[in-house]
Amino acid sequence: MDRERQVMEIEWEGGHRSTYSGEQLRWACPCAECRGEAGAPGRLARVKTLAPEELRVQDVSLIGQYALQIAFQSGHATGLYTFSLLRSLCACGECARTRN
Ligand SMILES: [Zn+2]
Ligand SMILES: [Zn+2]
Repeated sequence: MDRERQVMEIEWEGGHRSTYSGEQLRWACPCAECRGEAGAPGRLARVKTLAPEELRVQDVSLIGQYALQIAFQSGHATGLYTFSLLRSLCACGECARTRN
């Protein structure tokens, strides 16, 4: 994670590289509070904008072999981003073309 530029880069097996902005990661937060649970809409479904400190990544830690925990400057750190989620978030042109 490059905190200055707010860019996180992952190189996958096979050499594919993905880059993510803090903003992109924040809006993809998979935690129950953001996504909702038991049929109730989550926070991200109710808000249109987020404050800048919500979008700034403070820290990234590896959870086992399968996920990254991403802590935002606002203190929000409950999202566990599995590598399969991160792989599916890749916004590069190549992945966008093959996704449909
Ligand atoms: Zn969340
Ligand atoms: Zn890609």
